Amino acid sequence: MVGSSQPMGEGNCMIHCSELCRSYATGKREISVIRSLDLSILAGERAAIVGKSGSGKSTLLNLLAGLDRPSSGELTIDSYRLDRLSRAEMAQFRLQKVGVIFQAFQLIPQRTAIQNVELPLILKGETRAIRRQVALNALDRVGLLDRANHFPFQLSGGEQQRVAIARALVNQPKLILADEPTGNLDSGTAEKIVELLIEIFREFKTTVILVTHDQEMADRVSDRQFQMQDGVLKEFSKESRSNDVPL
Ligand code: ADP
Ligand code: MG
Repeated sequence: MVGSSQPMGEGNCMIHCSELCRSYATGKREISVIRSLDLSILAGERAAIVGKSGSGKSTLLNLLAGLDRPSSGELTIDSYRLDRLSRAEMAQFRLQKVGVIFQAFQLIPQRTAIQNVELPLILKGETRAIRRQVALNALDRVGLLDRANHFPFQLSGGEQQRVAIARALVNQPKLILADEPTGNLDSGTAEKIVELLIEIFREFKTTVILVTHDQEMADRVSDRQFQMQDGVLKEFSKESRSNDVPL
């Protein structure tokens, strides 16, 4: 199973977590951040996770991104058993399967927009000519062709997030993880980024996990919604929200 990647169409399971736990040892105490979490997301589904600060949303997203490892439990993404992969296999998983968009953009400051977008292609071993073309296409898709040679400090927050979105898309990942992607932006810029994400998610038909504080964004972007509370996810429908879920 490890490393295998069967072609999967819509309706197949993209993410499966069973009794997933992540805890941190801090001195004598152990803090359980993700507590025995069960979750199944089908290919092509767009899920939003809302929840208070500190409830474990980013911790979960980092596990799904292959940036962190579970303490225990099973985590399968597109038939990769993430809880069993070696470091090298984990790096391959990240490169092949996921695109991650962070609240603080996480661009490399010493590299231009196009160089940031090219990075995953360099890791993949693409030739320079192909990298350039694919990265330019991705920048064009997010409306930033004319900023290709700008450094992050020469770009606005919204433009930096567009570069980060281009970088997340450049390898055509099946899964996109977005952690508060509009959290550092003013409301007008945030709205434009939400519109871009909605378009791109539809166009690429990717599976999406979006973490957000913004309930309206969750409603617009997702078809399934979850609330994270102390490391446990509860699914809720839009209809039941007013009764069940304090937001
Ligand atoms: P959220 O994204 O929902 O705001 P996080 O997933 O960032 O929450 O954090 C959840 C909890 O895990 C917090 O209480 C935080 O202090 C704790 N935590 C996160 N990372 C670490 C770490 N490396 N060591 C110890 N505790 C951590
Ligand atoms: Mg967070």
